[in-house]
Amino acid sequence: MCAPVRASYRRDNVVESVFEYTQLSLDTSLGISLHDITPQVRRAIRESGVTNGTVNVLSRHTTTAVTINEAEGRLMDDIRQYMLKLAPPGDPYLHNDIHLRDGPPDWPGGNDAWRAQEPRNAHSHLLSILIGNTLAVPVVDGELAIGTWQSLMLVELDGPRKRTVGVQVCGTRMGGEPKRVDTSESSSNAASKSYQKKTSPVSDGYKDPMDALCEDDPSADECKVFD
Ligand code: ZN
Repeated sequence: MCAPVRASYRRDNVVESVFEYTQLSLDTSLGISLHDITPQVRRAIRESGVTNGTVNVLSRHTTTAVTINEAEGRLMDDIRQYMLKLAPPGDPYLHNDIHLRDGPPDWPGGNDAWRAQEPRNAHSHLLSILIGNTLAVPVVDGELAIGTWQSLMLVELDGPRKRTVGVQVCGTRMGGEPKRVDTSESSSNAASKSYQKKTSPVSDGYKDPMDALCEDDPSADECKVFD
C-alpha cells in the first residue's frame, strides 16, 4: 500500500521552464564610461528562481555596448583611452555630417530642430559594433558561471544619458514560489535603485515602459529612429 503523497511535495518537485525579462536603468557618465551591472544581473537571476540555464544581456542602444572584463578602476580608464584611440571622435565621419542628414518626417520643428539636437557620435556607433551588444552567460546552480575577476559591464560610448539594459533569464526552476530577495543588499547602487522588474512572460502582452516614455518625450535617446 502506497503512502499518500502530499500535494505540496509534488508541487515542489515540478520543474518549470522560465523566460523572464527585466530591464535595468542607469544614468551614465560623460563620454565613454564603464558600469558594472553584475549585481543587478545576479539579482535578476535570484528573483527568477532559475537554477540552471542562461542569462541574455542586451545593450538597448546604438551607442552603448556590453562586455565582460575586470571592473578595476585603472583598467577601466585604460579601456576608455584605448577606445578613443581606436575611433577618435575628431576624425571625419559621414554620420557626423548632420547638415546632410534628415530627421524623421514628423519630428517636432522639422529637420532644423532635429539637426540641432543630433549628436556627432559616429565614433560611438563604431565602437558599439566593435565591442558588441549582447552577452549570453551560463547560469549554474542559480549563479552566474563567470570567473573570479570577471564582471558584466555596460559600456557607455556617448554619455551622459539615461540607458536601459535588457536582461532575460532563461532556464528551469523547481515548482512553487521563486526565491525572494533581500532588496537592501545593493540599495546603495544607483543602477539597482532604478531596477525595474517585470514578471510577465514576454508572450503575455508585455508592454515596454519605453513606449510610454517616448509618448511623453519623443526626443529621448531611446526613442530615436535614426540614431
Ligand atoms: Zn548617431
